[in-house]
Amino acid sequence: MALHQNLIAGEWVGGDAIANINPSDTNDVVGEYARGSAQDMQDAIAAAKAAFPAWSRSGILERHAILKKTADEILARKDELGALLSREEGKTLAEGIGETIRAAQIFDFFAGEALRLAGETLPSVRPGIGIEITRDPLGVIGIITPWNFPIAIPAWKIAPALCYGNTVVFKPAELVPGCAWAIVDILNRAGLPKGVLNLVMGKGSVVGQVMLDSPLLSGITFTGSTGTGKRVALASVEHNRKYQLEMGGKNPMVVLDDADLANAVEACVNGSFFSTGQRCTASSRLIVTEGIHDRFVAAVTERLNGLVIDNALKAGTHIGPVVDASQMKQDEDYIEIGQKEGAKLVSGGERLNRETPGFYLKPALFTEATNQMRISREEIFGPVASVIRVKDYDEALATANDTTFGLSAGICTTSLKHATHFKRNVEAGMVMVNVATAGVDFHVPFGGRKGSSFGSREQGKYAAEFYTSVKTSYTLA
Ligand code: ADP
Repeated sequence: MALHQNLIAGEWVGGDAIANINPSDTNDVVGEYARGSAQDMQDAIAAAKAAFPAWSRSGILERHAILKKTADEILARKDELGALLSREEGKTLAEGIGETIRAAQIFDFFAGEALRLAGETLPSVRPGIGIEITRDPLGVIGIITPWNFPIAIPAWKIAPALCYGNTVVFKPAELVPGCAWAIVDILNRAGLPKGVLNLVMGKGSVVGQVMLDSPLLSGITFTGSTGTGKRVALASVEHNRKYQLEMGGKNPMVVLDDADLANAVEACVNGSFFSTGQRCTASSRLIVTEGIHDRFVAAVTERLNGLVIDNALKAGTHIGPVVDASQMKQDEDYIEIGQKEGAKLVSGGERLNRETPGFYLKPALFTEATNQMRISREEIFGPVASVIRVKDYDEALATANDTTFGLSAGICTTSLKHATHFKRNVEAGMVMVNVATAGVDFHVPFGGRKGSSFGSREQGKYAAEFYTSVKTSYTLA
């Protein structure tokens, strides 16, 4: 099997091989991918540093053309790349293809943004002096990504980094090197000059740590766990560099008595369990008022019983496997913890055997949960959700906000008054009314508050905030 190598200074270079294993079929090796060394990362950072002066002054047409060509190739290969994604990560083929299309849309969006770079001019308070406000690229950006969106998250970090004139060292998650390698290959062939984008696959504690400790990086954008996010923050403060963190969530979905039941069930089942619940925007706390509670639980349970949990690549599968053995253990541990804490497991929670050996888990639904239980406070990152019964809207809002996280929050209601109040008062970066907490558009800001995120927003034109540094120039002429 051919080894997929790291890209450093425009050259594909070797390293130990790591097997990329399919979680739907652990006998299936998706491919062999290089495990970079600390020296590889040092070389990559040096290459990105050397490439920065020329790339930062490159023409907008060149940047536009490379990003557009990348978008076009990703879109043209959506079925193949979507299948690769599903094979290495375990989300269904429809979800894999959908995520691939989104990656193409992101590159397309930033191809356009390259042509729209603009500043402001305004008069000084001192007559005769003019002021220009412009944005400079930062320099070398370190990009560290998690396994749950193997193509979309790399796309939404790499595309703006390049669009605004930065150079990049990119370290994808160990579990999903396939999509990362594929988009770097596409960008490289699309004409990026040597060293502008460098890929170093490998262990976070080895190659990722070199990034954190390097004084040559001007910014690090990170999506992953709270623990690693904190390390990124501490190291970045040490090196006086910009950083951006997207970490966990414990997203609430409030369902009020006046909700459209069918829509609420769809939004909750989708938000909690699709993509195997492995989304930082997944709704893990379903906060339901008394009057609709029993009907809601019955309808969700019925819907869950109709879902097919099987090989991600099989037609008809609604939910694929959990990503790997250690995530499976974490999910099962929390299912046990929930029961010990006194929540009632009303559906799922057991391992399933399928034709191919994989990490199949029946989506678990708890009722009688309280917001103080660990299953309501800690991120599980699997197909596990808890119903918390509340008396009215006020208690629902207070419960929704009683968390250390603040990424996404939803409400299902037909009351304009409650929907409006919720939008204004819920402590989250993204609010959904009658829509699942997970599933966001690519052209608008993404991010949270409290313990979920740090720094400026990702995606859409708001991405410029992180990837550029504002300059204010005064000219007397
Ligand atoms: P998850 O639980 O989602 O795997 P992690 O925070 O462990 O979350 O991983 C997210 C990304 O951070 C991965 O690419 C991982 O390799 C990387 N990572 C892990 N440890 C470190 C570290 N010490 N320094 C830099 N990156 C790291």
